[in-house]
Amino acid sequence: MAGTLDFSPDDRYNAFITTCSTAPFSGGALAGIAVAVKDNISTAGIETTCGSRILEGYIPPYDAYVVELLRREGAAIVGKTNMDEFGMGSTTETSAFGPTKNPVDPSRVPGGSSGGSAAAVAAGLVPMALGSDTGGSIRCPAAFCGVVGLKPTYGRVSRYGLIAYASSLEQVGPMARTVEDVSRLMSVIARYDPRDATMFDRPYDHRPSADIGGLRVGIPGEYFGEGVDPRVAKKVRDAIGVIEDLGASTVPVSIPGMRYALAAYYVICTAEASSNIARFDGVRYGPAVDTRKSWHEAYQDIRQEKLGPEVRRRVMLGTFALSAGYAGRYYAKALGARQKIRQDFERAFRDVDVIAGPTMPTVAFPLGERTDPVSMYLSDILTAPANLAGIPAISVPCGRVDGLPVGLQLMGRQFEEERIIDAAYAYEQGVKA
Ligand code: GLN
Repeated sequence: MAGTLDFSPDDRYNAFITTCSTAPFSGGALAGIAVAVKDNISTAGIETTCGSRILEGYIPPYDAYVVELLRREGAAIVGKTNMDEFGMGSTTETSAFGPTKNPVDPSRVPGGSSGGSAAAVAAGLVPMALGSDTGGSIRCPAAFCGVVGLKPTYGRVSRYGLIAYASSLEQVGPMARTVEDVSRLMSVIARYDPRDATMFDRPYDHRPSADIGGLRVGIPGEYFGEGVDPRVAKKVRDAIGVIEDLGASTVPVSIPGMRYALAAYYVICTAEASSNIARFDGVRYGPAVDTRKSWHEAYQDIRQEKLGPEVRRRVMLGTFALSAGYAGRYYAKALGARQKIRQDFERAFRDVDVIAGPTMPTVAFPLGERTDPVSMYLSDILTAPANLAGIPAISVPCGRVDGLPVGLQLMGRQFEEERIIDAAYAYEQGVKA
């Protein structure tokens, strides 16, 4: 297995920002397997841009813990995948390095922000990839490209070396073509790391089982309501029917706090982003700034030039939401709504083991179609609640509408990835049979 692996794929979908040659270690759970890594996850010696010009040329001096674990298990890290700038988007169109195209239909978006990871897996360039999910960024592109993607429980996977966007919401997670491979990659990355103070020592060690007899599946009305394409809803209901045929039962549940989810999500993520993005000042990382100017002029120029409009918009929104006199009106309220959503899920999980619904309200839309920020933000309505609640959620392909993939989303209790993985696996095996 030793020797250099030169990875130069036919990247016609612009899935990669950087590709690299690597020397896979011999042995380990992922010996010699090519894994693509989202470009906001630090890789020692490999350029890491977060899809932003402000980090162009930045070469991290250390590996994220998840990358260290991949290397330890013998994986070949073959490249860094394209993404919305700093993870801010749902289509990969805000990348400074051009959009990624959806391999299923290259005139459509691949979803985002981990669009490059999803496209690389869907196109068969790699069997597995890492993404990150703050409000849906693993599950959305998984659904749009027809692959499997898991957002772990908040605190189950180390964020050490993940370049922060909204620290209280995001997790690194696995993407692959099968539930089994997602589970395999999860067992490698879900390992305790004392350097991430928000971690719990709850390693994942599980082989998927299709035995789901007695499983209680909650169906939240809010996930099938207004704004959800009825054809998508139908596919998802059919998929839930398959899960019932395999021995599960369904129970109606309600997440009333859903109506506040997007507003709360966009206040919290922009507030956290305004703080996290402040370190990118053109001095410490990335391209050099003209230091003959005063510091504020220099910062202003470099940020104007090197940060894209969506990133600047969010930093301004977040700064405003936190400003004196407004923080109570916006940030504190958003935290209250977040608490309510968390409690709604806790209540629902007293009666059911998993909650099922669509991952996305629609199938992948044409590149360039959604230009106003609010219509883009609306596409996160079904994914952001799991981030607000900190619970695990997986998207598994469940058929097509107009030839485009639909994702079934399964959410679970905190630290119960095993259950949603089993349900997804049973579904996947059930349809194959
Ligand atoms: N689309 C959401 C956002 O723009 C989610 C992105 C993500 O999960 N990183 O914030």
